[in-house]
Amino acid sequence: MENIIDIVPLTEWGLGFEFPLLIAGPCSAESEEQVLATAKELAADGRVKIFRAGVWKPRTRPGGFEGLGEQALKWLKRVKSETGLSVAVEVAMPQHVELALEYAIDVVWLGARTTANPFLVEQLAAALSGANIPVLVKNPVTPDLELWIGSIERLWRSGIKRIAAIHRGFHPYERSRLRNIPKWEIAIDLKSRIPSLPVICDPSHIAGKANLVPEIAQHALDLSMDGLMVEVHPTPLQALSDAMQQLTPRAFINMIDNLNFHFTTS
Ligand code: PEP
Ligand code: MN
Repeated sequence: MENIIDIVPLTEWGLGFEFPLLIAGPCSAESEEQVLATAKELAADGRVKIFRAGVWKPRTRPGGFEGLGEQALKWLKRVKSETGLSVAVEVAMPQHVELALEYAIDVVWLGARTTANPFLVEQLAAALSGANIPVLVKNPVTPDLELWIGSIERLWRSGIKRIAAIHRGFHPYERSRLRNIPKWEIAIDLKSRIPSLPVICDPSHIAGKANLVPEIAQHALDLSMDGLMVEVHPTPLQALSDAMQQLTPRAFINMIDNLNFHFTTS
């Protein structure tokens, strides 16, 4: 089945987007201080438009930090009013969508473990259908382009027209330099299958290590990807999730300063 999906261009999403779209913030919201300090430093720079923070964390194995839920949504509401940044969280169940909307979250994303689950995506699409907020769709953990497209189609069919894909790489079984294998050709094929779909790269989850994030980000921009979603934490090594791959706000700003691309303001 071929699709004729038409997605609203990023410049018409109404959230003050610039090119490339920069989304940054901690893997997880851990405390009010952590969230606000990170957001204020990013907002002061001016190039990041969307602040990300996971408040529900679907962990691969049980026993890890699973996020602070509604409590953390209150902090994100403060981020919005004190910095003017738009705020984004991951939603993995319809109840998450309800709460995110109650706290005026601007953008939501589906994580790699959720995109792989068609019935769950249907439920999320139904919960989001009347909400009129943009939805970002991470690739599934396995290199399955059809499954990724399938999730995007399910959202689109439920009436959501502001959608972007997030390329975060694919789980390897073998030990590898990068945490997730980029398989850039899959992101490129996605773009040719749905030309109007913005594709954003998440170099943090591909790299898995902070020092490798800039080279992945540069590669994504060289491929003309539409934006970057980067994990930023004030004290990365103390992070409750993904400690090895997060950049300090300073290191993030430094990376953006040194990436080779033409930054445009709309
Ligand atoms: C995340 O963005 O922190 C996350 C859990 O990512 P992914 O779904 O790509 O593993
Ligand atoms: Mn993470």
